[in-house]
Amino acid sequence: MIELGLIGYPLEHSLSPQIHHAALATCGLKGRYTLFSISPSNWDKVHELLNQVRDGVIQGLNVTIPHKEAVIPLLDTITPIAEAIGAVNTIFMQEDKLIGDNTDAAGFLADLDNNFTGWRNESTKNALVLGAGGSARAVTSALIKEGWNVTITARRLGQVEGLIAQFPEHVSQLSSLEYLFDDLTEISPTLHLIINATPIGMWPNIKNSPWLEGLPYPKRAFFYDLVYNPHDTRFVLGARDAGLPAVTGFGMLVEQAALSFELWIKCSVPREKLFASLEEK
Ligand code: NAP
Repeated sequence: MIELGLIGYPLEHSLSPQIHHAALATCGLKGRYTLFSISPSNWDKVHELLNQVRDGVIQGLNVTIPHKEAVIPLLDTITPIAEAIGAVNTIFMQEDKLIGDNTDAAGFLADLDNNFTGWRNESTKNALVLGAGGSARAVTSALIKEGWNVTITARRLGQVEGLIAQFPEHVSQLSSLEYLFDDLTEISPTLHLIINATPIGMWPNIKNSPWLEGLPYPKRAFFYDLVYNPHDTRFVLGARDAGLPAVTGFGMLVEQAALSFELWIKCSVPREKLFASLEEK
């Protein structure tokens, strides 16, 4: 019986159990994926769960907001990618060590490969990331390693500058921008990839978009919304109305989950099976 789970708070709307139960079934394994909704004030419970991973009672854990950074000191080691992002989303035991890894960046890249044909061969690689929190860090770290220039904009410029400071080897590829209509209007025509890494537009606030009202669209750019609930966000619909390709983060959700599952179970699951699990009610 394989025990997997997710630590975070709150977790009511998580789709992860559906994805991982489908992964277990596809690999012919008996097990379950449990939601451990633990508020920061109940930190002892997180300790307890990590000890259960050490003892082999739990084979793998995912971690989400608000614990992705806070768990790091409790682990024996973290992978270089988790170190670069400064956050952990996957925990498991390997050679007697409690390891923290992060599959968000690889999940994002895998989904770009699935949806944005030729993105690796663009002659000019200019991306804009909206937001400067945890997922913006994962996306930025992925893109700079692929040779993209990334402009980051958020309502708090200090947060953007803090994010950029975490990638000292890539400063020449990174710039900060105020989240203001005029500044965004100026940069818009130069962009080829625009990513929403804020929760703006997420259910129930589905009428909102981080792409400011009236902001001109680039002639040719791919729009990627990390938000996946609703299935088509205002950000994505606006880009499509302007004739531009756009997807929500459903694919990234599935890809990062599948990559975590592979780390725990060493079984690669066809992604169609996981997408299908999300269509079942
Ligand atoms: P986070 O660490 O809280 O960062 C969110 C960023 O958005 C921060 O810069 C925040 O600024 C900004 N922001 C929040 N509300 C805003 C508003 N009303 N106006 C302007 N800026 C605002 O969150 P995260 O972990 O990066 O997640 C961001 C989104 O990505 C969430 O919706 C999450 O569900 C989604 N996500 C999807 C996947 C996937 O697999 N598809 C993976 C990870 C995350 P302040 O700090 O000033 O609030």
